[in-house]
Amino acid sequence: MIIISKRFDRLTEKLLSLDVSKDIKNIIDYFIENKTLNYENILKILSFEDVELREEIYKVADIVNKELNTDIITLKGVIEFSNYCKKSCYYCGIRVQNNNVNRYRIPVEEMFEIAKHGVNMGLTTIILQSGEDDYYSDDDLEQLIYRIHHELKTAVSISIGERSKEAYKRFRDAGASKVLLKHESINRKVFENVHPDKDYDLRIELLDYLVELGYITGSGNIIGLPGQTLEDIANDILFMKDHNIKMIGIGPFISTHNTPLEDFQNGSAELTLNAYAATRLVIPYAQMPATTALGTIDRSFQFKALNCGCNVIMVNITPDKYRENYNIYDEKIKVDLVDTAKKIVDMGLRVPPYTIRKIYEMEA
Ligand code: SF4
Repeated sequence: MIIISKRFDRLTEKLLSLDVSKDIKNIIDYFIENKTLNYENILKILSFEDVELREEIYKVADIVNKELNTDIITLKGVIEFSNYCKKSCYYCGIRVQNNNVNRYRIPVEEMFEIAKHGVNMGLTTIILQSGEDDYYSDDDLEQLIYRIHHELKTAVSISIGERSKEAYKRFRDAGASKVLLKHESINRKVFENVHPDKDYDLRIELLDYLVELGYITGSGNIIGLPGQTLEDIANDILFMKDHNIKMIGIGPFISTHNTPLEDFQNGSAELTLNAYAATRLVIPYAQMPATTALGTIDRSFQFKALNCGCNVIMVNITPDKYRENYNIYDEKIKVDLVDTAKKIVDMGLRVPPYTIRKIYEMEA
């Protein structure tokens, strides 16, 4: 408690010494007093279009992140193990109605070997991600999670959509400590515009249940969905704070061929950075990835986000022969571990020492 208070004192000193405009100063004052932001301040940050104001608020979010957390960027390894999905979200490239996808499923034993390779490369969290695919039984996934967690001594995160509550309880007991389930938009109308199965209530209820089960729970929204306003995005951020969401993935919408939204324009990369900065001030201790979706719009923005409040990057360890077909949106980039770690170090930031050691060992 004393350490946290000392950190906050140091942070306060740094923030107050910044030479910034009045708008930013007011936001800083509110943050220092409340250790979070209210709706009005979030909305103000989201609406910044002036480049100087944007750069100032990014700087503030960066200082908050690095003073309260660290300048170490966490790297998590994603295995995209199946691009089959029974759902039909209108923006998604692997939705069930898209017949132009080369579908694949990675066998469970091979998934374990990929996870093992990821751990040998220095990763300490493995994310198992897929479309909603019932081909894998709860037993299959439970055993896999147990093996990865216990045999490889690594954290397991799951991102597999709306499985049953019983299944999520079993996965938690087997050793999964983290879970990702994006709420996508807290505005029911915006959500239902892109989810024909209208599973809004189910998703929110499931998210709350995952928190209750003791998962470090991740959620997030999409920037630029049809009909979405800045007010909606502000409410998304407050929703995540109020629902105890600890990992926050915010990515821009990307228009994708062979989907009902293929002609809709991409979400704004700048607005995504504004959302990162606001979120860092609202939920200061969150794990917040600089998302692959943002990197797909512009790779330089993904790295810039690490100086705007983000503190995580998800690297891809899915073998290329599968990954090439995991196109949840067009042109989805491969985020490579070694390449990403080197870029982070070149930026003057740090990656976990264990990961760097393993990378050096691998390259020796
Ligand atoms: S967004 Fe997820 S649940 Fe929706 S179709 Fe794509 S993979 Fe399936």
